[in-house]
Amino acid sequence: MPDVPFSSFLTTCSDHGLRYSFYDFYSNGEAEAKSFVTRWMWWTIQQVLVQEQGKSALWIPDHFLRTATIFIHVGDIQGSIFHEVFHSAFAGSPLFTTNMCWGDSFCNTFQYFMEQKYMPNSTTLAQVNKRIAKGQPLRADSAYPDPILFFCHKDYDQFKKLWVQLQDQPNVSLDQLFKVDQQGVWT
Ligand SMILES: [Zn+2]
Repeated sequence: MPDVPFSSFLTTCSDHGLRYSFYDFYSNGEAEAKSFVTRWMWWTIQQVLVQEQGKSALWIPDHFLRTATIFIHVGDIQGSIFHEVFHSAFAGSPLFTTNMCWGDSFCNTFQYFMEQKYMPNSTTLAQVNKRIAKGQPLRADSAYPDPILFFCHKDYDQFKKLWVQLQDQPNVSLDQLFKVDQQGVWT
């Protein structure tokens, strides 16, 4: 069972078809993200709400209770729901302290693989594939998944294996591992 019951999921979304279908995506994403958590504590997601203002989706933690609320724009819901779910895995990982700036890249990498599986027609997925095919160097500070995807040869199992290994080596420099220099330019 997902941590978030349907009754706490996009409660103010008036499009019920959309709400149901995204609850499916959410549930699958949450289960997949939890499978990345080995012995580290998972950050419980309590609710997913509609974001009325601002531009991006959000993962808002309660550091004391180790819970989080996700805010999503209904019009822009797509794969960002997977990204936000993975923030709970990242926040429970030692990498959260040692390599915090790589959090969004990991979340976007997870989103990439989830979209490949559950939303193969996603425009985000197409954009990432196009960039990778061109081999364009990218700035890591834009949180692109590209350096990690290159490293894992766009293979989900390799990504997962890498993630598990990194839990035991949280002090490794991910900038060095993924060949990105301090300004975030690919070297
Ligand atoms: Zn994020």
